[in-house]
Amino acid sequence: MIKVSIAENLEDVEKRISAAAKRSGRKREDITLVAVTKTHPAEMMNEAIKLGVTDIGENKPQEVRDKYDSVLPVKWHLIGHLQTNKVKYVIDKVCLIHSVDSIKLMDEIERQAEKHNLDMDILIQVNISGEETKSGISKEEVEDLLKYAGKLKHVKVKGLMTIAPKTDNSVTNRLHFDNMRQLFVDIKQKKYDNVNMVYLSMGMSGDFETAIECGANMVRVGSAIFGARDYSQNK
Ligand SMILES: *Cc1c(COP(=O)(O)O)cnc(C)c1O
Repeated sequence: MIKVSIAENLEDVEKRISAAAKRSGRKREDITLVAVTKTHPAEMMNEAIKLGVTDIGENKPQEVRDKYDSVLPVKWHLIGHLQTNKVKYVIDKVCLIHSVDSIKLMDEIERQAEKHNLDMDILIQVNISGEETKSGISKEEVEDLLKYAGKLKHVKVKGLMTIAPKTDNSVTNRLHFDNMRQLFVDIKQKKYDNVNMVYLSMGMSGDFETAIECGANMVRVGSAIFGARDYSQNK
């Protein structure tokens, strides 16, 4: 097995984020790096946290629940598809849910947040490319969710998230990222109750620099920091 150097990888990712931020007229501090730790053990997460990682992302609620007590203080993000019956596992643990794509899910987050007496920040996940996938809503459906958010007390919409299709064609992904940025700006100008367009979460190991150039201010980077994932251990 190849030993991954989290320190070296992180340094490289940091440099690339800074350079991409600069190319888009911003600074490193304007971009939040969410280090994606799914499938990786708490020890690796703690190593990254000691190296300065402040935000970590998990795609499964059960993994948040199971690893939570073994990990140093850090901001947890839920970035993967969330079923309503799993909201209870993460409601008092994560700072931001990136993957909200239905009114039903918003309702359940509202219910659990009220129960725990807290406010929950969420992003609306948009399937901007229109490719077949189980998560994310179309651009046209976003407005319904934003309007619905106005009725909620504990759910706070803080921005948008997208996952670009896996492709070698960085030109088409740039187009998708540009479309997301446009949607983000349009929503900002329209002013919906209880909606604040603060975060534009897009960009992963293969495309985070492009995403930043297109306006992302939150990137979710896993394998470029922690190496390839081994899913064989996964339940
Ligand atoms: C796994 C995952 C990432 C990170 O993917 P890498 O290609 O390893 O950087 C980002 N976002 C989501 C939603 C993920 O599930």
